[in-house]
Amino acid sequence: MPSVVKTRWLCLWQVRTKLNELDIVNRAERQHLETVVLSKTAANPDYNQPPETQSLMLLFKMHGPNGVVLAITHHYLRRDGTSSPHDPKFVRVANEKWIPRPCNSKPCPDCKQWQQKAIQTLSPRP
Ligand SMILES: [Zn+2]
Repeated sequence: MPSVVKTRWLCLWQVRTKLNELDIVNRAERQHLETVVLSKTAANPDYNQPPETQSLMLLFKMHGPNGVVLAITHHYLRRDGTSSPHDPKFVRVANEKWIPRPCNSKPCPDCKQWQQKAIQTLSPRP
């Protein structure tokens, strides 16, 4: 039976907060989720990243051939092994697909409320 999936366009910072709260990146690092590399390219030098930085688009899903896709993120992986915070393009929340609004280029009315929370819920990266 297919589950009904509703799409919601929400504040970028609210979607980032949810990605952090769901702990998706850490769960994937502990192999509790499957990671699929959708693309891996040299970072565009216009985005102020150090040389040899890679730009990665990742998909996170439950294990198995029919595993539910939980998130798609973008992040920068630098040559020294450090990473920028994962920026969600999509997060699955129960029966909803959360898609971020383009708050980076144009802040939305919810940005103020969620920006601080997103930063607070960001777990420290090694
Ligand atoms: Zn916003």
